[in-house]
Amino acid sequence: MKNILIVGGGASGMAAAISAAREGASVTLLEKKEQVGKKLSVTGNGRCNFSNLAMSADRYHGHDVSFAAKVLEHFRPEDAINFMRSIGILETEKNGGLYPVNLQAQAVTSALLAEMKRLNVQILTGVNVMDLRKDKAGFCVYTDGETSEFRADAVILSCGSEAGVRDKKAFSAYGILKRSGHRIYPPMPVLVPLYGKNGMEEWWNGVRMTGSVSFNGRTERGELQMTGEGISGIPVFQISHVVGEALTKEREVTITLDLLPEYTESEICDFLLSGTDMKKAETYSAQEAFSGILPKKMIPVVLKKAGFKREYTLFDMTDANRIKLSEAARKLIHVMKEFPYTVYAAGDLAAAQAAAGGLAVSEVDDDMQSRKLSGLYVTGELLDIDGACGGYNLHFAWATGIRAGISAARGIKGGK
Ligand SMILES: Cc1cc2nc3c(=O)[nH]c(=O)nc-3n(C[C@H](O)[C@H](O)[C@H](O)COP(=O)(O)OP(=O)(O)OC[C@H]3O[C@@H](n4cnc5c(N)ncnc54)[C@H](O)[C@@H]3O)c2cc1C
Repeated sequence: MKNILIVGGGASGMAAAISAAREGASVTLLEKKEQVGKKLSVTGNGRCNFSNLAMSADRYHGHDVSFAAKVLEHFRPEDAINFMRSIGILETEKNGGLYPVNLQAQAVTSALLAEMKRLNVQILTGVNVMDLRKDKAGFCVYTDGETSEFRADAVILSCGSEAGVRDKKAFSAYGILKRSGHRIYPPMPVLVPLYGKNGMEEWWNGVRMTGSVSFNGRTERGELQMTGEGISGIPVFQISHVVGEALTKEREVTITLDLLPEYTESEICDFLLSGTDMKKAETYSAQEAFSGILPKKMIPVVLKKAGFKREYTLFDMTDANRIKLSEAARKLIHVMKEFPYTVYAAGDLAAAQAAAGGLAVSEVDDDMQSRKLSGLYVTGELLDIDGACGGYNLHFAWATGIRAGISAARGIKGGK
């Protein structure tokens, strides 16, 4: 019987353990934290967006995205659903995103744990793997735990990344891979909030609104979350990759927000002119005029940005005949649609949902097996592929974990 050691009890490690054990291998899983699946249990705001029906390689980044395309060919959203069902999790779908029907990420972790126990996977927590070597007898894995050495025929490294993790123990996986001759691209935080000091963050702190964010010809739309330090939310996460890259070359960059993406500038102008009783215009403040359009806290922000005085009334916003909006009012509406926001930093790894970088994918074959050290497999976020927000990272974790688990157990390409 093949003896397989899995390093890391996250999404891809647990999927690998289950797949290898289902193939009849004897599996031991080593996890450095006191529990397995800690990150998995908080994914998707505690709801676990485990895959997406709109699966496509263009939702992934990395130095060689064609690798992601190959992985996706062999593992489709239906496969993710079937894997979930096989561990007792029924799915639901929202805007293409797939979630457990009870919307509980913790339930996914519990189901994976239960299936590993049913398959007699030996799970050892609080064990930090520091290094590995291969000799004629197979692999020797060194840890800082009570049992300092483990032997195995194959090792699956499923250590993820430091994204979203606050851990006193250093992340050892890149070092392990480098020492065994593998190429590592330095990790970079992605799916992060963006930070700015535009003098308005205190005003808009706490606002959640539908909007879009654009940078370098790319636009993402969804719920924007305004914070005391800048801006966050799924559209910001999606664009943070390109903004983060630009910030490595420039001290600051300007992104553009559309605070009312459903309407054009002229539609907003028409609404302001037609929807208001112009006889009241002299007493009707700009704050009031916009209160049915923007969240309350955003109105002074937009007024300030457009240089529009707060005491201006709607009367000041029209021409003498009350049939055309004034230049100042048009500028105000333009600012709403193309709000320039200067960003000086993107969130760090601890604030990130994923990390770009990791093991160069040219170092592994289609089964995630190292081309440099046969019998060593690498899965999930430890590989140099990162996905967009929306279930893409977990999909890649299941796909690579399952493939590696099956391959290691079957000993494909002589993983001895
Ligand atoms: C807040 C948050 C929300 C997210 N939400 C979503 C979402 O809804 N949908 C989605 O697709 N993606 C989401 N992600 C991303 C997703 O969680 C990860 O991409 C995915 O978990 C990666 O799986 P993995 O197996 O590669 O790594 P992980 O799940 O991170 O697991 C790695 C495991 O290895 C352990 N480990 C590390 N080093 C060692 C070592 N030396 N020895 C022993 N054990 C070790 C770690 O403690 C960890 O348990 C989210 C991420 C965060 C931070």
